[in-house]
Amino acid sequence: MRHGIYWRDTEAVVPGPPLRQDVACDVAVIGAGYTGLWTAHFLKQADPGLSVHLLEMDYAGAGASGHNDGFVTPTIGHSLHGVVRRWGPERAAEAYAAVGRSIMEIGRFCDKNAVDAELERTGFHMVATSPWQVRRLEHDRALAALVGTRSLPEIARGADARDVIGSPAILAAMPSGGALINPHRLARGLARVVTEQGAVIHERTRAHQIYQDGGRYRIRTDHATVSADKVLVATDAYQHTFPMFRRASLPIWSYALVTEPLTDAQLARVHWPRREGFVESRNFIVFGRLTADNRILFGGGPAPYRPGRDMDESRWIHDRDVERFLLDAFHRYFPVWTDVRVSHSYGGCIGVTRDLVPHVGRHRTGLYYAHGYCGNGIATTHTASKALRDLILDRDTPYARLPFVASGPHREAAFPVEPVTRVGAKALSAVLALQDRRPDLLRRTIV
Ligand SMILES: Cc1cc2nc3c(=O)[nH]c(=O)nc-3n(C[C@H](O)[C@H](O)[C@H](O)COP(=O)(O)OP(=O)(O)OC[C@H]3O[C@@H](n4cnc5c(N)ncnc54)[C@H](O)[C@@H]3O)c2cc1C
Repeated sequence: MRHGIYWRDTEAVVPGPPLRQDVACDVAVIGAGYTGLWTAHFLKQADPGLSVHLLEMDYAGAGASGHNDGFVTPTIGHSLHGVVRRWGPERAAEAYAAVGRSIMEIGRFCDKNAVDAELERTGFHMVATSPWQVRRLEHDRALAALVGTRSLPEIARGADARDVIGSPAILAAMPSGGALINPHRLARGLARVVTEQGAVIHERTRAHQIYQDGGRYRIRTDHATVSADKVLVATDAYQHTFPMFRRASLPIWSYALVTEPLTDAQLARVHWPRREGFVESRNFIVFGRLTADNRILFGGGPAPYRPGRDMDESRWIHDRDVERFLLDAFHRYFPVWTDVRVSHSYGGCIGVTRDLVPHVGRHRTGLYYAHGYCGNGIATTHTASKALRDLILDRDTPYARLPFVASGPHREAAFPVEPVTRVGAKALSAVLALQDRRPDLLRRTIV
């Protein structure tokens, strides 16, 4: 079993050279994940003459965009429940409609630009493995009606649910739309298209400091300085490394296992005819999907916070306790696959905000930002990037007025300083885990 990210094995990357000479541009983007790349794409589409430079400390797609689990979800932030509670049903419906459009457009983008992101338009199912989780599905179905979902999903129960995915653990299943992709290939394909459009990506170029000088922004990197009229900080889970966003978001670790490719005989043991992904309806979700080469990706479970916002991949890419939890859950879902070997076990950081929804806008320093997708960013980054395009080009459009977009400088709820954050994260995590184990003790949906 390797403690490395499976997706990185599906397409080799040779990072480009670091920036060595000072450059001046109209828009500088820090971070070449989906947010930075889609924003560059939409800006170049809107105004091909605009000079756009992206600074990426590693390679395009090295962050969460290249190693997420590939569920293109319509979910915004942590949950539908949280979004409706925060924004109300009408505003939530506007945001959901926009993200729904993004899901379709990502598919069209891949077709049009020959990006082989192994897209499967199968979507995924929310599943329940206990009566309490069935009630959560019913609650989510009622919320989906409130946000105007056109064809309200039916909840399949018992044998009908296992007709979708033949796992003995599943009691009920509800379709949730969306798609499955290879995230790394989407990021790399998008980087290629953005480069063809004339944007410049400087890989192995870390932004150390952003400051203002003579009416322009300057970004100090290892070997050169970039000056720009406008700057977007698009580093999501790394956003806290910039002083002005220090308390805006927290990196939380999320883990997954990937098996060796299943043989036809192994595959035939589980009825899974349409290859949809599934996500178990609990606080610390458990999820599974097939990859294009018929591996099972199985992930979720406890999502730890590392004190001091530690994101060191060499230390935390593997977590023995979470791995044990996931192996147990995998065998509970698929007891006929005890002979299936795990080839990869790894984790990465999601960016979480205090109110569990993403935030997009212009900071009082004048910097543009987007962060806090809370583990549901593949489609939402696409929508957020349209909003960023319109904010940067100073256009008042429906995207610039979506509920997660701040039209002027605003203060989002900040996390407290350490050690309060560490203690608070640990306490909340314990309560959420307890509710997953003993829902009878605490019936209210917390997050
Ligand atoms: C393990 C995991 C599983 C996930 N699963 C899903 C899923 O199934 N479905 C879903 O919708 N979402 C999922 N997500 C969330 C989703 O991947 C993210 O929300 C999304 O990729 C965020 O994109 P981004 O461009 O904002 O950030 P990122 O992709 O993280 O890009 C930020 C980039 O900034 C660079 N950077 C950071 N600091 C600097 C600096 N100082 N200078 C230069 N560059 C810098 C980083 O190297 C990185 O490439 C998952 C995330 C993780 C970690």
